[in-house]
Amino acid sequence: MKTVHHALAEATPGTRQSLLSLHYGEPGSGPRVLILASLHADEVPGMLVAHHLRRRLAELEAAQRLRGEIVLVPAANPIGLQQWLGGYHHGRFELASGENFNRHYADLTEAVATAVQGRLGDDAAAHVACVRAALGEAVAALPAATPLEDLRRLLLGLAAEAELVIDLHCDSEAVLHLYTTPACWPALQPLARCLGARAVLLAERSGGDPFDEACSMLWPALGQRLGMALPQACLALTVELRGEADVSHALAAADAEGLLQFLALRGLLDIDAAEPPPPLCEATPLAGSVPLVAPHGGIVVFARQPGDVVQAGDLIAELIDPFSGATTPLLAPVSGLFFARDQRRFARAGGRLGKVAGSQALRQGRLLSP
Ligand SMILES: [Zn+2]
Repeated sequence: MKTVHHALAEATPGTRQSLLSLHYGEPGSGPRVLILASLHADEVPGMLVAHHLRRRLAELEAAQRLRGEIVLVPAANPIGLQQWLGGYHHGRFELASGENFNRHYADLTEAVATAVQGRLGDDAAAHVACVRAALGEAVAALPAATPLEDLRRLLLGLAAEAELVIDLHCDSEAVLHLYTTPACWPALQPLARCLGARAVLLAERSGGDPFDEACSMLWPALGQRLGMALPQACLALTVELRGEADVSHALAAADAEGLLQFLALRGLLDIDAAEPPPPLCEATPLAGSVPLVAPHGGIVVFARQPGDVVQAGDLIAELIDPFSGATTPLLAPVSGLFFARDQRRFARAGGRLGKVAGSQALRQGRLLSP
């Protein structure tokens, strides 16, 4: 295992931070896998899964069971880890810019297209290597003046060579669910089974440019731009490891084993890969994930739990105005799985209190929260 400390650009003199990546297996001996934890720094379950993976990957490497390179970033957001205000951790948005740490990842389709145009010959097998090299150069040329820009550039750089990118997040209170693209989904379906995913939300472009999408969308977008068939040479997804408080060794160890089982199924680990359990859900469109929106502020009293299957019109929560005493019932906007809810129990007008994954693509525009 090789440990790499990537120094981040300093926001101000004397405040340099660094990103840590752990590299298991021989570079070039097989495909690269990138697993990163807690890009939203206050989403802790991923860091504990990485802690369990660290021990298991060291064992597998010592036993010479790796068939490629596995890069583990055990805490992907050193900037967000130190953002504490008034006793509360703020790991989702950079306080300096207000930007979401998992948005605004660069679309490098045009830069890569310009670099490879005319260089992709008849040898399809060589296309992937050529594109990856150009992608690495395009990433290296990204702006990196601020710590946040530099963090984004470093993470995209680690992903440029990867055939599989697994971005470990969590929701507020939720059952385990996944976000990926329709093109990645067939190959990732076994991972949903290995992890016991209760919902899988698919979108070609969610509108927010999250990290996983920046990694995966390049291949179909580039193929379209160049008018040629390119393989989906990078599979990427976001795994939402339940809710923020779902941090236990039992869950993390099982999640780590699920990830390793999937790597084994893909031939990246030389260990017995058991047939994964049957799927717990069908994939549904991200555009069918409908938020439950508070029409006014007030006390939130939930009537349903994450993981409940609801019918459109079912009571999900009551919203109580503590001044007037008025109670507003909040009803399921669609039929589907009530898969996530806010852990706070007081709402602001317009706040999103939960999400129901329906089967119909009803929404348009930006599909992710800001
Ligand atoms: Zn997140």
